[in-house]
Amino acid sequence: MQTVIDSVSHELRTPLTAIAGTTSALASDAIAADPARRRLLADELQAMTERLNRIVGNLLDMSRLSSGTMTLQRDWHDPRDMVSAALALTRREMTNHEVQLHFDDVLPLVWVDIQLMTQALANILSNAAGYSPVGSPVQIACRAAKSCLALTISDSGPGIPEKELPKIFGKFYRVPGAQSGGVGLGLAITKAIVEAHGGAVTVANRQAGGASFSIDLPLDVQPEIPGEDEET
Ligand code: ADP
Repeated sequence: MQTVIDSVSHELRTPLTAIAGTTSALASDAIAADPARRRLLADELQAMTERLNRIVGNLLDMSRLSSGTMTLQRDWHDPRDMVSAALALTRREMTNHEVQLHFDDVLPLVWVDIQLMTQALANILSNAAGYSPVGSPVQIACRAAKSCLALTISDSGPGIPEKELPKIFGKFYRVPGAQSGGVGLGLAITKAIVEAHGGAVTVANRQAGGASFSIDLPLDVQPEIPGEDEET
């Protein structure tokens, strides 16, 4: 527990220290007279605040998920909307990557809590962007089989050491030597959310290099769309 508190405190302090430094720089007269530099600092401030917000959001989600107080607000959603919402959440990180989408032409609707599933997906996207080289592609595929919808996110980063693969969905688990910027909760939250939907999340290393995460969601009987069977 002590190590967890130490690591979380460290990860919270890093952006906080940077925010304090940037804020005082922004307040200086020299910066006030230089709009381009001010813009740059304001952008950095926003990026660091987003990072902090995500860490705190992950801590709160995990606390709700483990206490069982999180209830699913499920509705029918197009998986494409889920992917777009997750891409919007990770827009800033994704700007350094080429996002390649591979969707089946016809996709069924899924019965999900869109906000939670978006978060689950965004955690994987954020890792794909953060742990792979700037400029490398991130592929998102969405395929429907008979009874399940598979969402796969693949990157061209270093992948995950084979012996760490079974551990990375654990709470507060980080691969030894992982760059700073996280507390090891993102994937644990993704797993909890996906499993609350009756699905499963898995990871494998790609032959060509990089990691590939798959979210499999069970497909329910599709809802009837009013008017679809009516004669016109
Ligand atoms: P965090 O990113 O906050 O450390 P996560 O639970 O999201 O926590 O990920 C756990 C660990 O798995 C990370 O610390 C990292 O070492 C590893 N990891 C996750 N995604 C990837 C990826 N796409 N490529 C390489 N390593 C990854």
